[in-house]
Amino acid sequence: MHDKTLSELAAGLKQREFSSQELTRHFLDRIARHNETLNAFVTVTEEHAMAAAQAADARLSGGDGGPLTGIPLAQKDIFCTLGIKTSCGSKMLDNFPAPYDATVVAKLKDAGTVLLGKLNMDEFAMGSSNETSYYGTVKNPWRLDCVPGGSSGGSAAAVAAGLTPAATGTDTGGSIRQPAAFCGITGLKPTYGRVSRWGMIAFASSLDQGGPMARSAEDCALMLGAMAGFDEKDSTSVNQPVPDYTATLNQDLAGLKVGLPKEFFEGELDSGVAQALEQAIAEYKKMGVAFKEISLPNIGLSVPAYYVIAPSECSSNLARYDGVRYGYRCQDPKDLEDLYLRTRGEGFGAEVKRRILIGTYALSAGYYDAYYLKAQKIRRLIADDFKRALEEVDVLLGPTTPTPAFGIGEKTGDPIAMYLSDIFTIAVNLAGLPGMSLPVGFADGKPVGMQLIGNYFDEARLLNVAHRYQQATDWHRRLPEQFA
Ligand code: GLN
Repeated sequence: MHDKTLSELAAGLKQREFSSQELTRHFLDRIARHNETLNAFVTVTEEHAMAAAQAADARLSGGDGGPLTGIPLAQKDIFCTLGIKTSCGSKMLDNFPAPYDATVVAKLKDAGTVLLGKLNMDEFAMGSSNETSYYGTVKNPWRLDCVPGGSSGGSAAAVAAGLTPAATGTDTGGSIRQPAAFCGITGLKPTYGRVSRWGMIAFASSLDQGGPMARSAEDCALMLGAMAGFDEKDSTSVNQPVPDYTATLNQDLAGLKVGLPKEFFEGELDSGVAQALEQAIAEYKKMGVAFKEISLPNIGLSVPAYYVIAPSECSSNLARYDGVRYGYRCQDPKDLEDLYLRTRGEGFGAEVKRRILIGTYALSAGYYDAYYLKAQKIRRLIADDFKRALEEVDVLLGPTTPTPAFGIGEKTGDPIAMYLSDIFTIAVNLAGLPGMSLPVGFADGKPVGMQLIGNYFDEARLLNVAHRYQQATDWHRRLPEQFA
């Protein structure tokens, strides 16, 4: 059953080929068998899952199930889950059972999905390799000596290895798309404001956005339909109706104009990645898609601008972890200052501390204009580049990452090299646009991801463009041999 897509599983449930309890048991067994190798799950919620599956079966036999009723899935451990540990990959929250469900969790629960557990991630979503997690590195199911990408590495690895049919992720600078690319799955970062951030632990609030990670674009369409929508509890959530993302998946692509940002194809693009993309472009040409080279002249500034904005916002968001309210507290503090210093010193890992230091510096009096304000101005220039490009073409296409998955430990000593693995994804967050990654082949035995970028709230079109490609190819159907 784990080789099926979510939509196929949904059809099987509807036709009563198997029950949600059987399906859930199957995935729980796979988690029990493979999680030790992969380290993708931080928490497995077996009892909870079996009870939810039983309730879903009752709904299904009563005939009142929706498209996701009875489908098992897993949540990135950044989403608050009522009564279940929500660690955000950090020692700071290792003892934190969330007091409520995040809106995304509540929505997926209402849709009748079954929670299998919580997925490993980089600490507070800061990382590109899952190596900053308090719970240890996640392994890439295609190559156990390689990283799965990050920060949603647990989500990507769990889907790729068939431990869950789908998962949630969050993307502040690439954390859905980059791990999706590294693990050969499909992931969508929606337009900023499309999916509620309420109960999604904050990293950089003006960039963070939750989205689906699954095998196929069709599965992402089903997931996004359940996750998206206005939420009065999130002031940046946009009040716009949620379309039926599955209704337009099959639209003909003839006449579609796709832009190839020339900056994405210059420089240090891995030759295997370039080759896989060329083949994908050829596939689209057969469907009548027209390609045009475009330019995003300020794109080279996106990584430096991001590494001022994201740390600044994180330094402010993470101020709440003080040992007073919730989370980790150091042993026997001498006084209040000792409590703060040791709680934060002991509770946060090295990368999180690095970001808090950079952000606090950039926001301090006298430096704010030189760094944060300047970075925000660059952000506007980058958004304007995309605006101009998307006036000429419908969608942009390029690589998700410059190389396929790198080795575990290969970049941990060089933060800048690590940061550059998001060079093609970060600008999309700065502009607030939707972007997705889908598998388009292999380089050196490792999956290659292709990125599609659309206009604001044009998720339906991205899913349509991805789905048509997936109908003509089968990269999204491959399973790593060890987990087949
Ligand atoms: N790798 C980037 C960072 O470390 C992006 C992370 C993310 O999207 N959450 O900030």
